[in-house]
Amino acid sequence: MDMIKDDLIRESGLLLHACCGPCAEYPIEDYRIRGIRPILYYANPNIHPEAEWQKRFEALEYLARIRQLDLHYSPLYGEQVWRAYRGRGKPCMLCYRLRMEEAAKKARDLALGFFTSTLLISPYQKHEAIQQAGRAAGQKYGVEWLGEDWRKFFREGQRMAREDGLYRQKYCGCLYSLRESDFREKAEKGHAEFEALPATPEPQAMK
Ligand code: SF4
Repeated sequence: MDMIKDDLIRESGLLLHACCGPCAEYPIEDYRIRGIRPILYYANPNIHPEAEWQKRFEALEYLARIRQLDLHYSPLYGEQVWRAYRGRGKPCMLCYRLRMEEAAKKARDLALGFFTSTLLISPYQKHEAIQQAGRAAGQKYGVEWLGEDWRKFFREGQRMAREDGLYRQKYCGCLYSLRESDFREKAEKGHAEFEALPATPEPQAMK
């Protein structure tokens, strides 16, 4: 832990891009111990279908409420962008770049000095690619990227999410990852049930 750097983060402010509630649990706790209160930012146009986008958002909203943190969100929803990759594999690099750029831009707009992402806790993500996308986005928007590595705390974060009763997703996010998931049937049943409920907020298609 770098105390001088943490002082700087406290002074300049931190935006924490959050892919979902469960992945945000441990990073929030880590920053709480370090005396840092991040602003959470849900910017995930990769998450499909809309019901899943909303379920993850609502879990994060609940977490922000119980941890008393501010939460902003980007309404961008990129199903068509992802569908254009049909037959070309999963566009993970594009996915990281889009999300890290959204986050860096938001941190700049909020006049925060630092940003990072809860994606850095997942052992299932391409860690180095996220770090690379974060660094590039930081340079582009003039905000410092924090290259955290919380991967060894992934299980602890999941345990905290279970304890808080958060929705825990069954696939990475895009339609391709849903199709490949061992839990596809269960996830789709959950989407159908969720669609029967009033949904807030409305995601908006990416141009
Ligand atoms: S698998 Fe995950 S990281 Fe890759 S494109 Fe799909 S949602 Fe994005």
